[in-house]
Amino acid sequence: MKRKIVVGNWKMQGSYATNEVLLHDLLSELQSCDLCCDVAVAPPSVYLDQVGRVLKDSGVLLSAQDVSAYPDGAHTGECSARMLVEMGCSMVIVGHSERRACGESDSLVALKAEAALDAGMTPVICVGETLEDRQQGRARQVVEKQVGSVIKLLSQRVKQCCFAYEPIWAIGSGQVPGVTEVSDMLQCLSGWVGGGRFLYGGSVNLHTAPSLFSIEHVDGVLVGGASLNAKAFAGIIRATNE
Ligand code: PEP
Repeated sequence: MKRKIVVGNWKMQGSYATNEVLLHDLLSELQSCDLCCDVAVAPPSVYLDQVGRVLKDSGVLLSAQDVSAYPDGAHTGECSARMLVEMGCSMVIVGHSERRACGESDSLVALKAEAALDAGMTPVICVGETLEDRQQGRARQVVEKQVGSVIKLLSQRVKQCCFAYEPIWAIGSGQVPGVTEVSDMLQCLSGWVGGGRFLYGGSVNLHTAPSLFSIEHVDGVLVGGASLNAKAFAGIIRATNE
């Protein structure tokens, strides 16, 4: 069985003071449980250094929320994969729907995943359909196209990636797709990619996590809102053992 993984995406939230409290509370929650899964937190890039220092030797991994597709040069505002590795990141989220909504194409997302792998990081590649896509019966096609660009560029290296299936309508909405919808999509993903790890994301919390972990093909979860609450995030982590 694959080792489960829980990734917390803080999005554009936090401050030096609140990060310190959140991480302190999280680490004390985790002290009492045997970490049988991989855990990562993804703070905004300006806090990577602070969070990396606090997490040092804790076993909790550091993830970035985005990476440049370019190795260096004239790309104002971007951070390269090498820079993120230098900050201590071993993972990076790419193609989050909030970034795709800002105009990131499937091919750019694939290039970012490649940049991450080249630097030795694991990309967590987000894919997922809109509510309209699902209602029109296009969910699988939409996700296949998103994943297809990554497979085309990375070929066999695609198996070194994590994929997070995040239906856009489930993110931050409190709505979670049914067991069959999640299981079917992750089975498709696993078939297209042929290896790697497959996460579900979208309104994962203390209450939804246990049933999500019982779904076949769910190797882990990508958690937004609930990762900002130490008790809730630790509870989700513990649910991987149940
Ligand atoms: C996310 O940020 O990727 C996410 C899934 O958010 P939430 O858990 O709040 O729905």
